[in-house]
Order: sequence, then structure tokens, then C-alpha cells
Amino acid sequence: MPRKSTDLLIANGTVLTLDDSDTRIVNGAVAVAGNKIQAIGPEEDFREWHIAHRIDAAGGIIMPGLINTHTHAAMTCFRGLADDLPLMSWLNDYIFPAESLLDDDAVFNGALLACAEMIRSGTTCFCDMYLFENTVARAARTAGMRAVVGEVLFDFPSPNYGPIENGFAYIEQMIETWRDDPLITVAVEPHSPYLCAPDLLTRAYSLAKENGLPLITHLSETQNEVAQIRDKYQLTPVGLLAELGILGPNLLACHCVVLDSGDIALLKQFDVKVSHNAESNMKLASGVAPVPEMMQAGIRVGIGTDGCASNNNLDLFLEMDTVAKLHKVITLNPTVMDASTVLRMATIDGARALGLDRVTGSLEPGKAADLIVIDTQKPHLTPMYNPVSHLIYAVRGSDVSASVINGQVVMENGHLVTLDEPQVMLDVNRIARRIRKR
Ligand SMILES: [Zn+2]
Repeated sequence: MPRKSTDLLIANGTVLTLDDSDTRIVNGAVAVAGNKIQAIGPEEDFREWHIAHRIDAAGGIIMPGLINTHTHAAMTCFRGLADDLPLMSWLNDYIFPAESLLDDDAVFNGALLACAEMIRSGTTCFCDMYLFENTVARAARTAGMRAVVGEVLFDFPSPNYGPIENGFAYIEQMIETWRDDPLITVAVEPHSPYLCAPDLLTRAYSLAKENGLPLITHLSETQNEVAQIRDKYQLTPVGLLAELGILGPNLLACHCVVLDSGDIALLKQFDVKVSHNAESNMKLASGVAPVPEMMQAGIRVGIGTDGCASNNNLDLFLEMDTVAKLHKVITLNPTVMDASTVLRMATIDGARALGLDRVTGSLEPGKAADLIVIDTQKPHLTPMYNPVSHLIYAVRGSDVSASVINGQVVMENGHLVTLDEPQVMLDVNRIARRIRKR
């Protein structure tokens, strides 16, 4: 019998598959052929195999890459520019004016920096909403990251496309450009019910539906938003979208902080997915999304960092730690949002939220090889009774030592393979000098 062979074997670690039965393999290995997972098992199963390239996990953890369900990647350019402000003045007095200075160059380099930070901290797939989003797709492609991208749509003229007519043309062009791309999924992304008139929202819904794409929006983020929408339409933001007929399984609603029981019932009834952005909601003092209630109702919830001007980092390990603790303290119940639940939110449930669960989010033969290695040979990770506990309560993004996305090694031994990190940081510092001057 000829020897079996594999392009890449990630071995010598505890494999957490995050599959339906939560399979764990101590002293396990994952074989990758091309862009797909070929086999998973105890390392001894692969002893006779011909292995083209081997990554040694050094007794650490081998697991699916994390999925960031809500980012504005290029906002890395504004990291630390304006803190400690309410959402509306933060947006209107700082962020929107700074965004009017953005161009293709700033978005490309800001997004590359975000990709570098995300790869370093274990994220293999992110869902982005921003300006010049075709450029974000190019940056993700350059970094080798999986991404869901959508140009942000709103009623006023955009620094990228001008009037909204051009916005729809821009998205249609993006749909054509990236149609068969293995890493990029285009989404239709109206900003929010407070910045988008009903006809914009319904048109966005139709475009997403015609093309079988995700529809993504900010929803019920603040009390202020709910008051505005109630004033204008006598409905909650969720109620408004229900009235417009655009709730559905392809809708990803980001934030969902201010919900009443009717809103939760509607989100469940229409199988709407939710992106939970705990740290952004904490920093902007928006409130705490009722995630345990939503999950109790059967709503799928993924985790997002939001833009890094409101966080101010893209590290999903820190975010998972926050998510697990925030809901305990707010409900005074230490049993809610246990480590295993939070880990699923940041992996397979995130993939479900983006409609990508057949591609990524767990380690299973036939799925895309999107996986990371955690180096546990560290004082703060010693001893290790339970890897899942460590992943939520002790691991930091900087403990990720290797990352593979769609079969491509993008980080190995702590070095980024696809990006020239010093150059990316120089470029973003150059852009920051321009922003500071204004
Ligand atoms: Zn956002």
C-alpha cells in the first residue's frame, strides 16, 4: 500500500475540534491537504504518513481560528484618537470628521494593520463594515484572511461613493469582483435604522436576497437610538425591521443591546443572527446586551470586537474573557456564559452568524483548514487542568504561535508570513500624522 501523504501536519497538541460532539484529542494532530482539513486524530495515526510540512504545537492547543463577527478594520487608523465620550458625540464630533479624510491608501493600510493584529491574536475570519470596502477585501486577500465585507450604506453622501445610487452600484460591482473567491464573501450592509431611511433598508434587503448574501446592520445599540426610532415610527428598531419585512435568517444584527421581550421573540421567530460586542458597548456605555436571554430563546449569537476606535483592540481572547465575566456580574449569576459556551460563540456560532458554518468554525475533515495553535508553555498558562478554561480566562492573543487560513500558513513560530509588519506599522503612522495635522 502506498504511504499516505499530507501537505501540512499540525501536531503534538490537544486538538479541540468544536464539532457537534465537542471532540477533544490529547496528543492529537490535524492533517491539511490543499485548502482543506484532510484528517484529524491521535498523532500516532500519522506516524507512517509522508508529511511535507510539520508545525509542532509543543504540547499546546490546536483549535479552529476565531471568528470576529463585527469589525470596522480600517479604524485601526483612529486607535486612541477619541475616548471617554458618548456614542453620538464620539461619532459626530470625532469619528465622522476623521473619516472624511479617509482614502483608498488609508483604508488599505489600516485594514492590513487590523489583519496583522487579528492574525497575531488568533482570528482567521472577520466580518467588516466600512468605507472603501473593496479595498478592505484586497487587504484581507493580501493578508490571506477570510472576510465578509460590505460597503456601509447610509442616507447622506459617502466619502467613498458620494450619493446612495452610487453606493448600490459599488456593491453590485463588488459582488461581481469577488463572486467565486475562496476567502471573500460580499455582504449588503446598511449602517442602521437611524442613518438609513426605510426605502434604503428594503432596497438593501432585496439586493441581499437576490444574490443570496448576508444582510448586516447595527441594531438597537443604544437607548438614544430606540428613542429616535420610536419618535419617528412608533416602533422599536427591531419592530421597524419586522414591519419592513426584512427580518430573516441571513440578517446579522450587530449590538442588540436595548431589546424588549417582543424584540427577542421577533429575532427568534425570524432566525436573525446577532453579533455581541461587549467591550465596545462597555466603553461607549451603551449597556449590556441581554445575551443569556437571547441564547435561552434559541438565537445564535457570535462575538465581535467592533471597530478598534471603540474597544481599542481586536483581540478576541480578551473579548471572550470580558463576555464570560460581564454577564455573570450583571446577572449576579456565576453559572451563565460558561467557558465552553463562550468558546463556541467565538468559533462555530460565529461561523453560523455569517452563514459560513459549512466552510469554517470547527475542525472537521472536508472543512476549510482555518486553525490556530496556542503556545501554553507560559507561566500564566501553567498548570492546565482544562484547556477550555484557559482559552477564556487565561490565554491572551499574544499566546497564539501559529495560524493557518484556507490551508495557507499565515503565521508560524510567532512570525507573520503574509505581511511585512514593520512596513505596515510605518504606513499607518504616516497616515496618523496626516489625521493629527487636521
Ligand atoms: Zn460597528
